[in-house]
Parts: sequence; structure tokens; C-alpha cells
Amino acid sequence: MTADTHVNGESSRSKPKHIIIVGGSLGGLFTGVALKQHGYDTTILERNPTNLLENQGAGIVAGGDTLAFFERYDRCKRPVAVASQKRMYLDKSGKVVHEEVMKQTMTSWDLCYYMLRANYDHQESGYCKVPGPQPGDGKIDYRYGCTVTDFKEEDDKVRVFYARADGGKDSVVGDMLVGADGPSSTVRRILCPDVDRKYAGYCVIRGTVPEGEASEEAKTAFVERFTFFHAPGIQNLTYTIPGIDGTMEKGKRLLNFVWYTNFPEGEQDLEEVMTDKQGKRRRITIPPGQMREEAWEMVKRRGRDRLPPQMSEMVEKTQQPFVQCITDVITPKNSYMNGKVVLVGDALAGFRPHTVASTSQAAFDVLMLVEYLQTGNHAEFVRRTMEYARLMQSRGVYIGNRSQLESLPLKDYIEDRNMMSIKREDLEFPEWTQVRV
Ligand SMILES: Cc1cc2nc3c(=O)[nH]c(=O)nc-3n(C[C@H](O)[C@H](O)[C@H](O)COP(=O)(O)OP(=O)(O)OC[C@H]3O[C@@H](n4cnc5c(N)ncnc54)[C@H](O)[C@@H]3O)c2cc1C
Repeated sequence: MTADTHVNGESSRSKPKHIIIVGGSLGGLFTGVALKQHGYDTTILERNPTNLLENQGAGIVAGGDTLAFFERYDRCKRPVAVASQKRMYLDKSGKVVHEEVMKQTMTSWDLCYYMLRANYDHQESGYCKVPGPQPGDGKIDYRYGCTVTDFKEEDDKVRVFYARADGGKDSVVGDMLVGADGPSSTVRRILCPDVDRKYAGYCVIRGTVPEGEASEEAKTAFVERFTFFHAPGIQNLTYTIPGIDGTMEKGKRLLNFVWYTNFPEGEQDLEEVMTDKQGKRRRITIPPGQMREEAWEMVKRRGRDRLPPQMSEMVEKTQQPFVQCITDVITPKNSYMNGKVVLVGDALAGFRPHTVASTSQAAFDVLMLVEYLQTGNHAEFVRRTMEYARLMQSRGVYIGNRSQLESLPLKDYIEDRNMMSIKREDLEFPEWTQVRV
């Protein structure tokens, strides 16, 4: 497959092709931004009924491939990540029991989202300048309120069917379909109906507190730090991320916590925490603003009883908490119909967040997709993306279960964490991850 290309001085080769992308979150936008700059026409279909996705205001570790993506394709030219200098471990009393110098970069979902929207469809926001179109860019089309329901091969093309938010039905034809529709992917369900997304037995409670509202003790523990606490059934990780409109200014950033806590299937506490303000039992996520007061009180009590004081303070001071059930899912294959339909990001494999690699996976998949489209090397695309997905998905299950279901000496938690910091280029892929295409 070839297309007109102009990034990095490559020359024009042939007429751009039209690629349909399902999902307009980070994975879909990585795809749209990169393909646009390589001259492909793209249509993004996003089911959200409004133009902008709801900001959950939470942190993302900016892994190597996320940074590489922005380095290569971002035209806003603003910084995307805040650096933390040290990794620390606290005990229950809040004392530092281990620390090591380790530089790491953190960003936020909203900053990435708005930078990608500025790059894709010139969306204005307080986050960044909007770069203008450049000669050679492919055509773009971001359609929200479009829930994809089906697709089929039509000659050498793919027709994608969707339901519009106004109740109507429509379809669009393209040369290729990219499923970037997340861990409950419809594209995957159509291709592999037997693949299940399973609850792992624990949830993550998330929230942010402005740096300026934190006590001195909390600032010492979390400002430009990556700080952990482990106890049976609990892991808490707190770190600094960009603030409102992506500001990196000291004192105006946010302290972001990620608190894994066990809620076994069938227990009343799980039902409590996953029932929203309207009394609806949500399956996977309670978004910001939807947590019931009683449930939040129960979570805060858990925090007071079980967390170090600096971490419990973050929970107490959070205004917009949200909860996600931790789940496992992986697709056996990421390419179908002779490479005409592919899956990227969470649609391919939903990693446990301990891997801190979900956004990086989406960026990596798209960097590999571009290479496939440019060179036609389909086998290499499948091999590299599948091997990475298999290894990281399985490691997430391994370290997540050790953290939540076992009681280990601190050095084991540290080793597990350090295993997740190995650069992708340095990973070794055991035989069971390997793909023969
Ligand atoms: C609103 C939102 C906020 C998030 N906030 C954070 C955060 O703060 N921190 C963090 O670490 N991770 C966050 N994530 C998850 C993170 O973005 C992903 O793990 C990672 O970036 C890979 O994303 P993805 O694009 O593959 O999947 P997802 O982020 O799950 O995106 C999938 C997209 O596909 C759309 N979609 C699903 N089904 C259909 C369909 N049938 N038709 C059309 N569209 C469909 C969804 O509405 C969604 O926008 C968030 C995701 C979303 C959607």
C-alpha cells in the first residue's frame, strides 16, 4: 500500500488512500494525525455525542513511544510532559523507606488529547497553539456522535456502518479500517466474538489535587516524585502532572494519585462503589462527577485506615474522583482481511495500568502502522505489535496480581516496578510471545 508522503522529506509517490478510524480518543487521534501528515485521507468515527471527549483530568506516564510520537508529528511545539526526578516508597506512617534517582516523564490525558485534536482537526483550546494545514496533508473528517455497529468487505474496500446520535443510520467506505475503539472494541467483537474483557478483582480510584493545595508533607512526597505505597490488597502511586490547560508552571501543576484497591467480585463494597448518582450499576467506570457521596465517604474511610497520611490527604482533598475496574483483554490477532482491517491500542490489548504502557502501546502501534503503509511490510507490522502486546499484557497481569493478591517484601515490589521501566527496544521477547506470519 502506498500513498503520497511528505514527512521527513519523503517524495510524493501516488494518490492518497482513504482510511477509516473507529474511535477518536488517543489511539484514534495518533492514527489520524500520523496518517494525515503522510498524505492519507482519514475519517474518524467517534461515538461520543459531543465534539470533545470528557476530560478525566488524570495523569499518564509518557513512555518512550508517546514521546517519540509527539517528537515526530506534533506541530504545536509545546512541551508534553513534566519530569519526576526520583522514585520513592513510603511505609504506612508516611516515612520514606526506599528511594532511587530515576528520571521519568508524566503527562495528562487532556493535554495529549487537545494537542492531538489541534494537530488533527485544528481544534482550539487553552492548551496549545493550533498549527495550520500544510501542503501534502491528507483530508480530515472528525465525526462525533457516530457509533460503529458493523462493517463488511466491498470489492477491495471496507464499508463501515454506524448509528448517528440523532437516531439515523449511515455508512462510509474506505480502503482500510483501523479499530482504535478501546478495550471494549466493537471492531474486535465483530471479528472475534469469543474474546472477553474480564474483571481482575480490583479497582483503581483516581483523582488530582492542585499542587498549591497540598500540605508541605505531601509536596515533599509527591512534587516531581514518583511515589509508591504497597500493603496487602493496596497499591498507591502518586506523581506530578501538568495543571489546568496543560500548564507546567511550578505551584500550578496537579498531584495525581492512582490507588489500586481490592473489591472482590460479588462483594457489597464493589456494588456500592460502582453504583453512580443515578443509582445505575456501571460495569467498568464511574466517571468524574458521578460518584455517590456515600460511596466516596466509604472510599475516604478506607484511605484514612489504610494509606500513609500524605496519600490519604490526597484522597480527602480530591473534588472529582473517578473509579475504573481493572480488566484484562487481549486479541489473538491484530490484522484481518489481508491487512485491510487492523486493531491498535486498547482495542488490541487492554493492559493493566501498572504497566504504565497503554498510551505508549497506542503510539507504538501507529508508528508501526505507518511503516507498514509506507513499506508494505505487513508481516513486520503484525510481528512487532503483537509481540509487544502479548508481553506487556501478560506482565501487567503478573505484577498486578502480585501487588494486589500477595504480600511481598518491598524489594520484590521494587523489582517488579523496575521491570516495567525497561525500554521497549531493550525488551526480550520469549518464544510464547513470538508471531510466525
Ligand atoms: C475520555 C477518556 C479519558 C481517559 N483518561 C485517561 C486518563 O486520565 N489516564 C489514563 O491513563 N488513561 C486514560 N484513558 C485511557 C487511555 O486514553 C488509553 O488507555 C490509551 O490512550 C489507549 O487508548 P485507545 O484510544 O486505544 O482507547 P480508548 O481511550 O478507550 O478510546 C476508545 C475510543 O473509542 C470510542 N468508541 C468505542 N466504541 C466505539 C464505537 N462502536 N464507535 C465509535 N467509537 C467508539 C470511545 O468512545 C473512545 O473515545 C482515557 C480514555 C478516555 C476515552
